[in-house]
Amino acid sequence: MAITDKIYVKNHRQLASQLDASFPKSAFSGATLDVLFTGDGLAKLDEASRERVLEFVEDFLDCDCQARPHCGHPQRKFVAYLLELRAQGLGPDAIVDVMGDDYMLYAYPGDVLSFLDDSVRTLEAAERLADVDGREAAGEIRRERRELT
Ligand SMILES: [Zn+2]
Repeated sequence: MAITDKIYVKNHRQLASQLDASFPKSAFSGATLDVLFTGDGLAKLDEASRERVLEFVEDFLDCDCQARPHCGHPQRKFVAYLLELRAQGLGPDAIVDVMGDDYMLYAYPGDVLSFLDDSVRTLEAAERLADVDGREAAGEIRRERRELT
């Protein structure tokens, strides 16, 4: 399962009742993207929640794809957001805190940790391949990996 399948909406039940619509707890599931993030119920949300939902839409659902929000960009952008927080030196607990403040989302720190570990391992594997090929990419990948560890 991708990390984006393990990102959840905080106050899920409260929001569903404000919207008078049900949607899954998982932030990136298709129905949540439809009902909470691109539905027309935004005006029914309390102000603090609405602000967070709008931030999320602006930051992750801002592509022009016809299939939006089901084009895969929201998930990819969120992964980049997580890696960026890691590159800034945040650990799993702090990353979970920040996504709560920014977007009213939460995840289990253990899931975030495994995701970060996997990302580093993927970069290490890419680095080894690039080394074998003698490509300049190896240096770039190595820099990215160092930022994450
Ligand atoms: Zn897109």
